[in-house]
Amino acid sequence: MPQKDNEHIIDYINRKTYKDPKNEFWKHYSKRNKTYHVDKSVFYCVSCDNVWSKVPKYIDFLLWRIYPKGHIPTINKKRKKCPNCRGKNE
Ligand SMILES: [Zn+2]
Repeated sequence: MPQKDNEHIIDYINRKTYKDPKNEFWKHYSKRNKTYHVDKSVFYCVSCDNVWSKVPKYIDFLLWRIYPKGHIPTINKKRKKCPNCRGKNE
């Protein structure tokens, strides 16, 4: 591949890594990397004393999963019955 102009490697890197706000690619990129708070989707079940969360279908087809006891701190987690306990009561 013939090079038309001898662009300096530093200029090339600057051009490629400069986050132009008008550039659609960077807009998309920054949207994707928005900070995501896991605590909002992780719940603590009072009935069975487990921490559970909603998960995407490729992780579990039930769309929720219980985490092993003692691995995740339950402090500040929302108190919400897991689908398993909800099913028992109804
Ligand atoms: Zn439960």
